[in-house]
Amino acid sequence: MTAGQGGRGAGGGRVVVDVGALCANYAHIERLVAPARLGAVVKANAYGLGADVLAPALAAVGCRSFFVAFLEEALALKARLPADAEIHVLNGLAGGEEVACAEAGVLPVLNSFDQAARWIDAARAAGRRLPATVQVDSGMSRLGLAPEELDRLLVSDAFATWIDVRLLMTHLACAEAPDAVSNRRQLSVFRGLASLFPVRPRLSIANSAGGFLGAAFHGDLVRAGLALYGAAPSPAQAGLLRPVVRVEARVAQVRSICAGAGVGYGLAFTAPRPSRIATLAVGYADGWPRRLGGRSSVAFDGRSAPIVGRVSMDSLTVDVTDLPDAAVREGAYAELIGPLAPLEAVAEAAETIPYEILTGLGPRLARVHVGAPAISEQACA
Ligand SMILES: *Cc1c(COP(=O)(O)O)cnc(C)c1O
Repeated sequence: MTAGQGGRGAGGGRVVVDVGALCANYAHIERLVAPARLGAVVKANAYGLGADVLAPALAAVGCRSFFVAFLEEALALKARLPADAEIHVLNGLAGGEEVACAEAGVLPVLNSFDQAARWIDAARAAGRRLPATVQVDSGMSRLGLAPEELDRLLVSDAFATWIDVRLLMTHLACAEAPDAVSNRRQLSVFRGLASLFPVRPRLSIANSAGGFLGAAFHGDLVRAGLALYGAAPSPAQAGLLRPVVRVEARVAQVRSICAGAGVGYGLAFTAPRPSRIATLAVGYADGWPRRLGGRSSVAFDGRSAPIVGRVSMDSLTVDVTDLPDAAVREGAYAELIGPLAPLEAVAEAAETIPYEILTGLGPRLARVHVGAPAISEQACA
């Protein structure tokens, strides 16, 4: 590995992923939702954290149901997972992917009558029943069969003959709001639709937040993403989960400036006193929100330092005047996300959600996986 190549080594920063904490979160949530089982949502490269490492680690602690968004993501994971693991493709069966999906033994999430019809055709062509997950829309109006489409499907002999329904799922629009009336309404619609199946399939309703709504929402399988990655779906769960992600940025330069000197584009910050400014080598091109300029802080060895001025494409500036010189030197690392700057707080300061922060972290930041005996200190960009 060459230093600086592809964001590794001496690049601008790194995303340190604690695989042990991920597995502890899996075990914790699995106990919480038992006797339902827990599936792992590893779409978008496991929320940007490295699905090729995290999915096998979750399989090693017992996970057998994985959810991705696209067939390509499923195909990339297939060989890394045990043969009895199921992979569901949430975004559905795209036209032209039927044969590849069937051959790989991946479960398409049938989201429309048309998708189901194409899967039936694929089964006929293959001369064998094909497994599938069926998603119904219980009120979110995003993905899934509308109730009348499900009626049409269930009266079709071809569907019963050719499709092996492994899971019936729906998705909640307001799971992180425990008091939202829509949660109960969606549950009741979903139960009604599930009762139309001649043989009751396994049921799945909840994402991470839904897993905390109580047993009625657990069904047979909970689909957790965010909570596995250590972020509380809502403030009520703060402290229940182990943080998994630390984001670190390298100090590119430290300078002393006089009172009255401006910092960065637009000179948006003016030093009120003689100051020391550290320039960190991570910017908005790495997914660090530009909006955090002047609104958030980073940490050096357990001490906070505010981000001052605007975030640039490849760097950001922090005021380290109050920190000891020795803590802030060129080549040292500052924590952008960590104990003093939790993911949830950073997202809030950026007026977004933890999902967007994680999935926005760019490829220049090396992913470093730590904390699992078998894969300790494994880097995979
Ligand atoms: C992304 C997704 C999940 C996981 O959601 P989290 O809030 O990260 O737990 C679950 N189900 C569906 C359908 C999803 O799209």
